[in-house]
Amino acid sequence: MSIKVVIVGGVAAGASAAARLRRMDENAQIVMFEKGEYISYANCGLPYYVGDVIQKRNKLLVQTPKAMNRRFNIDVRVMSEVTRINAAEKKIEVKNTVSGETYEETYDKLVLCPGASPRIPDIPGINSSNVFLVRNVPDSDMIKEFISAEHPQNAVVVGAGYIGMEMAEMLMHAGMEVTVVEASSQILAPFDPEMAAIVARYLRKKGVKLKLNSTVASLEGSKRVEQALLSDGSSIPAGLVVLGMGVSPATGLAVEAGLAIGDRGAILVNEYLQTSDPDIYAAGDAIQVKDFITGQSLYLPLAGPANRQGWLVANNICGRQVRYSGAQGTSIVKILDMTAAATGKTEKYLKAQGIDYRAVHTHPASSATYYPGSTEMTIKLLFTPDEGKVLGAQIVGYDKVDKRMDVLATAIRAGMNVFDLQELELAYAPPFSSAKDPVNMTAYVAGNVVSGMMDVVSWADVPGRVAAGSFLLDVRTEAECQAGMADGAVNISVDDIRKRLDDLPRDQEILAYCRVGLRSYITCRILKQNGFNVRNISGGYLSYPDYQ
Ligand code: FAD
Repeated sequence: MSIKVVIVGGVAAGASAAARLRRMDENAQIVMFEKGEYISYANCGLPYYVGDVIQKRNKLLVQTPKAMNRRFNIDVRVMSEVTRINAAEKKIEVKNTVSGETYEETYDKLVLCPGASPRIPDIPGINSSNVFLVRNVPDSDMIKEFISAEHPQNAVVVGAGYIGMEMAEMLMHAGMEVTVVEASSQILAPFDPEMAAIVARYLRKKGVKLKLNSTVASLEGSKRVEQALLSDGSSIPAGLVVLGMGVSPATGLAVEAGLAIGDRGAILVNEYLQTSDPDIYAAGDAIQVKDFITGQSLYLPLAGPANRQGWLVANNICGRQVRYSGAQGTSIVKILDMTAAATGKTEKYLKAQGIDYRAVHTHPASSATYYPGSTEMTIKLLFTPDEGKVLGAQIVGYDKVDKRMDVLATAIRAGMNVFDLQELELAYAPPFSSAKDPVNMTAYVAGNVVSGMMDVVSWADVPGRVAAGSFLLDVRTEAECQAGMADGAVNISVDDIRKRLDDLPRDQEILAYCRVGLRSYITCRILKQNGFNVRNISGGYLSYPDYQ
């Protein structure tokens, strides 16, 4: 007898599970319920549709119910919300969201892919007609219609995560003055503060106003919102408001059905993505998964993991057992001309968890510096102190950031250490890279730390060390220093160091920096071999917090 699989949710994880199920079992009865009008749409493309970068709406609609039925023989029911699970009788209750009619459907296996719900603050004015979410196609239709009818001059984006940043760019494209309000002290939570600060400086230069450490207390206006009142008492004009405050897993159905919920507040699944009921699987933004690096639980609402999980559930239902090995959080965002990408753990996470690590920052060129169009990027690499095993990486730059990030993300999957990264033979010709690719280059710096050739310290720790008596040494040229140097630093150029050893303290720790960290590394080697206690400041002056 053929198996009957019912899927709740018809976008990333749900549609992926459905298509794979059919490819594996031609006889299965597959029913996919979607409460909205569209299935398998490109929600990641929605901001670009709002900003007219994607001009044709139907490009967002990857599959239609009709096409999916024709190709995969899947019974797709849109405008159909699953409202209850009766796990004991293996039945669900479905409500037609147009007619209001309800009915029951049985299943042999149930797959929950309901995604996540956007966080909406409970503040006055939140239900006004010019306050928008960016979750689905109708949301983006409404924003577009409002912009073309009302031509708002200014916009407030609440939340400086990926969607908030993408929307800020798109609203700028549409000609608005944009203010981003963010509750925490930095934009882009998946990054460490000094990396996010590079993007923040760039955004401010481009005219985006950033209000950090701020929340919106109320949205005010006569017929609709005209201004946002912030927690600090200030107000900003708001012809349009977009919420990008993150999401919470859609667990309602699962909770009501008595399925186990994990410590991250999402549906708990085992390594085969089975819930606490073995006949119910779950995938995507609704579940919590294992952190590939630490083994701890992780909530990671991203499209890549959701698609893989959907695929994997289909395999497991069809008897081809595949374990989910966990997620590491590889992500990327385009912000105007800049790209910011991250994978694995951040320094702030490692510190908070008490996990021992080392970090280096480099500023390599995207391609050979003599080839037109080469730009500088900043790479931060986190690794274990003893073996140099890669724990995480962040890159911010203008060009070819994605390819370096994908190498580093792959390195984490492969369990590589910084010495393995040194050995990677990566594609090189001047338009694409340097003979030592930025990944190799960063790995050489990290390797020096692991092998004890150089001790590093980050700028965040410098003020404390200087207060405790460390000597701050700038080894750039006098001309470079005249353009700006760190507070309290003494300038001795790297080329004069050997002659001026007597000017340096032997009873104090010396913290050396140059522009990017190479000349200060050379300085460290000279001083170390002359018996000084010296550390290189990671990332050099380009990573100095006040560097503009
Ligand atoms: P979804 O794709 O959200 O699908 C869940 C579906 O289930 C929804 O359509 C919902 O209507 C339906 N549903 C819920 N409850 C029920 C019910 N009871 N009955 C019937 N149907 C139900 N990720 C990236 O990795 N990169 C990006 O660039 C990126 N950009 C994004 C941009 C935007 C604007 C958004 C909104 C998300 C973005 N994401 C991105 C996140 C990514 O889209 C999600 O991680 C992914 O779609 C999750 O897949 P899912 O199947 O779990 O949930």
